[in-house]
Amino acid sequence: MRFKTKNVHFQEKIQSEDMSKTKPIYQTSAFSFSDLEEMESFFEGNKSYFYTRMGNPNTDDLGKGVADLEGAEMGIASSSGLSAILAGVLSVAKSGDHIIATEDLYGGTYQLFAHELKDFGISVTFVDCCNREEIEEAIQENTVLLFTESITNPLLRVEDLEGIIKIAATHKLKTMVDNTFATPYLIRPHEAGADMVVHSATKYIAGHSDVSAGVLTGSRNIIMKAKAKVSSLGSNLGPFDGWLGTRGLKTLSLRMERQCGNAQKLADALKGHSAIRKVYYPEAAATRGNGAIVTIDLTDDKSVFEFSKKLEWIKIVPTLAGVETSISYPINTSHRPLPREMREKLGVTDSMIRISVGIEDAEDIIEVFKRALD
Ligand SMILES: *Cc1c(COP(=O)(O)O)cnc(C)c1O
Repeated sequence: MRFKTKNVHFQEKIQSEDMSKTKPIYQTSAFSFSDLEEMESFFEGNKSYFYTRMGNPNTDDLGKGVADLEGAEMGIASSSGLSAILAGVLSVAKSGDHIIATEDLYGGTYQLFAHELKDFGISVTFVDCCNREEIEEAIQENTVLLFTESITNPLLRVEDLEGIIKIAATHKLKTMVDNTFATPYLIRPHEAGADMVVHSATKYIAGHSDVSAGVLTGSRNIIMKAKAKVSSLGSNLGPFDGWLGTRGLKTLSLRMERQCGNAQKLADALKGHSAIRKVYYPEAAATRGNGAIVTIDLTDDKSVFEFSKKLEWIKIVPTLAGVETSISYPINTSHRPLPREMREKLGVTDSMIRISVGIEDAEDIIEVFKRALD
């Protein structure tokens, strides 16, 4: 199957007596057995489900759907993007180990790495992933993992994944790529050799701003370890959230096609406007498009709050990727946990607005932003 077909046909055909067209929601905390022998057979691998914290058909569907699109052997869904990142990290790193992460990082991931992992005894060095020497200099004897994002937030830098993964492979490091902004519709990091790909499925994978979820994909070996972490950390996804995520995932291709198209039109239309210092939008990120996020830096540092009052039907939210166009203010949301010096080094300014472009008519989106900027 090609990508767009696979995108809607990743679930097995329902074979039960009533043959419902969509998968029912297994809103259950546990599964029952006809006798104790059958119950025991779960531990011999003859039964798929036992207790929802250890696995549920609806959450498994979400993991499988994303794994199919990413071209991975297996996927596991969890309660959020951050819990998927944590499960992935803990399946390859333990106390005393060291990891290297890009400094151009989602704020919540920065918080997890810089503070929580430190308390687990795992140290982290943040580097500029564009700088090969900086990565190599950061490698220590106990380094086990290199973490990066495929398209960074909010500056939308498209990382040279092949180059970065090659360095990691030379030093026998595992690699994990946060592919939230690109989605497998645009970029598939496993094809560049990534061991793990992680998503905040809260964003484009589920796509409708109605669920908080994460997915980690990789080889069966790694994902089985991550699955054990999700189970013992209790960071499993609920069945209904798994079902919602799965339903959202089926329109990923359609949404991305429209959203990337609208974003390209918006970025082109806003370039050169006198109220904007710079429009950040990738060029040649992927053959199917350049993503659906456009970041603008306003010329007048003090105009951000006034601008935010003129956005008519466009919502101001601390998230992205829904079907409705929305904006966020990185320095007080996603990048709040980053120290000011780090933000300044990266170039995340006080006058920066991140636009998550939706599926509306492009002309309407462009007109609202032009009116607000004027
Ligand atoms: C939102 C986001 C996360 C965190 O995901 P949650 O689902 O909020 O836990 C991680 N990485 C990126 C790039 C994100 O946008």
